[in-house]
Amino acid sequence: MEVYDVTIIGGGPAGLYSSFYSGLRAMNVQIIEAQPYLGGKLNLYSEKIVWDVGGIPPMPAGQFIQHLVNQAKTFQPTIRNGEKVTSLKKRADGNFQLETTKGKTYLTKTILLAMGNGTLDPSPTPFFTNKGEPLKNVQIAVTDFEALKQKRVFISGGGQSAIDWANTLAPIAKEVTLVYRREAFKAHESEIERVTSGLVKCKLQADLVDKKLSADGKIIEAITIRNKETAEEEMILVDEVIVCHGFNQKNELFEQNDVGLEVFNEYYVETTPQTKTAIPGIFALGDAASYSGKVHLIAGTFHDAINAVNAAKLYIDPKADAIGTVSTYADKLKPKVAKIWEQYTTE
Ligand SMILES: Cc1cc2nc3c(=O)[nH]c(=O)nc-3n(C[C@H](O)[C@H](O)[C@H](O)COP(=O)(O)OP(=O)(O)OC[C@H]3O[C@@H](n4cnc5c(N)ncnc54)[C@H](O)[C@@H]3O)c2cc1C
Repeated sequence: MEVYDVTIIGGGPAGLYSSFYSGLRAMNVQIIEAQPYLGGKLNLYSEKIVWDVGGIPPMPAGQFIQHLVNQAKTFQPTIRNGEKVTSLKKRADGNFQLETTKGKTYLTKTILLAMGNGTLDPSPTPFFTNKGEPLKNVQIAVTDFEALKQKRVFISGGGQSAIDWANTLAPIAKEVTLVYRREAFKAHESEIERVTSGLVKCKLQADLVDKKLSADGKIIEAITIRNKETAEEEMILVDEVIVCHGFNQKNELFEQNDVGLEVFNEYYVETTPQTKTAIPGIFALGDAASYSGKVHLIAGTFHDAINAVNAAKLYIDPKADAIGTVSTYADKLKPKVAKIWEQYTTE
């Protein structure tokens, strides 16, 4: 069985940049990501503009994911999506052994825990199929903005993201209905003022009582709501549904963790500023890591990734350069740089 130099658990910004950097340091690498897609938390706000990362123009997070993924693939890592790591142990030969929800076993010399705050599963809603998947015209983390233009959009929820979506879509959708079960919305005052100023149909204290599905059972065509006070019912015709009921964050840090890794405050692994955990060969980075001065932002994940990959390199080969130098990269990168340069000069 192949033994990877580096196994990265989590395909968010920390994991994706580590994949690139592991390639620079000539290590073979695999990324294992629980979700069927890469990008980590950025998928929760894929239409929000990210503008605080050095060197990139402001762009929607969804587009930024594409840049991260392209860079992560530079040195042909193995990418395993839709596979959650459930168990971790150290073998007598010094390698680590991982098991996943697909029933697979992998061997690796080092592990980078780039797991953010664990897996994010949407809270259960009546807009799922019996198998727990969203119906076709239901978006949990809005990923398809175009699909919402000139449509009758039904938004369920009353927190900041529900209000943001209602305000964003009101000028471009055919109709926006915002339905919340409580008495008042929970968001910034100015946003609430905007959402209640006329363009959005706001329904407070409303329960979702029924839904009408298309003949094939895949699309919601109408939703019936009931006012808690008056018991009055109303059927609302819908083209698209956005569910902002939040996510359940889970970080049990593996069902079987035989190496003694510990989380504190539910989500964090304590590390040195160089990302070392208490277990030699295992490094934690990005949002998963906690140390004095840690920056829980995308830019902070890049800094951690460089430290973690360099530390992994030294763990495997104590004689290696402590940090990757430009001359270390040069040979490996030469053909790629030549290609990029050619493209650049012919444009
Ligand atoms: C609403 C919101 C807006 C934000 N806006 C900005 C911004 O504008 N600028 C900025 O710099 N930062 C922003 N952030 C913070 C930024 O998104 C995080 O700092 C960043 O995503 C952390 O990256 P990460 O790779 O460490 O973790 P994550 O992005 O959380 O990725 C971790 C990945 O690990 C996977 N995973 C977890 N457990 C397992 C397992 N057992 N097996 C396999 N995979 C697993 C998860 O599925 C997830 O995909 C924002 C955060 C939020 C919530």
